[in-house]
Amino acid sequence: MRKWEDNLRRVEPYIPGEQPQSQDVIKLNTNENPYPPSPKVEEAIRSMDLGTAMRKYPDPESGKLVRALAEYYGTDRDHIFVGMGSDDVLATAFMSFFNSDNPIVFPDITYSFYPVWAKLYGIPYKEIPLYGDGFLLRPIDYGYIDPDGDGITDESGEAVTNGGVVIANPNAPTGIMLSRKDIEKILIANPDVIVIVDEAYVDYADESALPLLPDYENLVIVRTFSKSRAMAGMRIGFAIASPRLIRVMNDVAQSVNSYTKSATSLEAAVASLQDEEYFRARIDDVLRTRARTVMELKKRSFNVLPSSTNFVFAAPTWTTGEDLYDGLRERDIYVRHFSKERINNYLRITIGTDEQMNDLFAAIDDIHA
Ligand code: PMP
Repeated sequence: MRKWEDNLRRVEPYIPGEQPQSQDVIKLNTNENPYPPSPKVEEAIRSMDLGTAMRKYPDPESGKLVRALAEYYGTDRDHIFVGMGSDDVLATAFMSFFNSDNPIVFPDITYSFYPVWAKLYGIPYKEIPLYGDGFLLRPIDYGYIDPDGDGITDESGEAVTNGGVVIANPNAPTGIMLSRKDIEKILIANPDVIVIVDEAYVDYADESALPLLPDYENLVIVRTFSKSRAMAGMRIGFAIASPRLIRVMNDVAQSVNSYTKSATSLEAAVASLQDEEYFRARIDDVLRTRARTVMELKKRSFNVLPSSTNFVFAAPTWTTGEDLYDGLRERDIYVRHFSKERINNYLRITIGTDEQMNDLFAAIDDIHA
């Protein structure tokens, strides 16, 4: 074996959903928005001086977008970090905040990128099983203050020493939402470490952890423009947290790459924030189709988990998840299947347009005929 083989980093990468290049497929596998972004976004890009935008490096501080986000969320600029999609923001947060010898914790069924970053950065981690067939996240599993005054313990009375906490809320791929009150319980039980709440899908849910920020300096909320803002191709995500944490994230990010956000993406993101009416209308469209999808799948004997996202997690009772995935794929409908214990009978189905969902229902009927 060649000597340098010893020095190669061996990692098991995250496997994203397929991106078939043909336009003729129905793509319900990566939770993209079926609608385009606001027309104002395209207008903003077209009205840019593209020659200059391409010639020059972009603003490394994403100043204009940071200002726009601060205004949108009613906070100050030093509370906002912008990254190249929320994957970049999350990776930066892992690198910035998880330097303890104690394991960070996250659910056993959640965004499968979390263990990949933990391994890449050498962060010890522990997966905490979601509870029961309903895949519920119980805050008590992340520690609680012992009423006898023995500090923070688990149910058996053992001291809890988390190195950090990561919660996707709503969770993926289950789609299930934890209340703000429950998020606060997790924060109360983890005062000495950073708690990341990944709110990639929160615009489709009832409430966010944002109101907790003033009270918890160790809370980091991560958001994306990829789902509700229909800009997955532009790669913009951001974090909202206390200025101390944002400073550290900026220092870490600037130690890897100064220019991660393209000039066009930054302009597009600012324009998206300026069309609230369009944004709300498209969310309502997805929510309406989601309600219909849940009903239609239940009619077809699926077990459907309650969704607070732009996808549903559903298991057919009459075939396996894998066979149904294959059957749909043969009919050019792409959904997501995870070959993982406990959830391998489920499919994660992105909410598309009504027309796309009708094609999905027809394909299911065809397979089950
Ligand atoms: N968090 C969760 C829970 C997700 O499902 C995704 C989408 N794969 C992301 C973060 C990352 O999305 P993006 O990098 O496009 O912002």
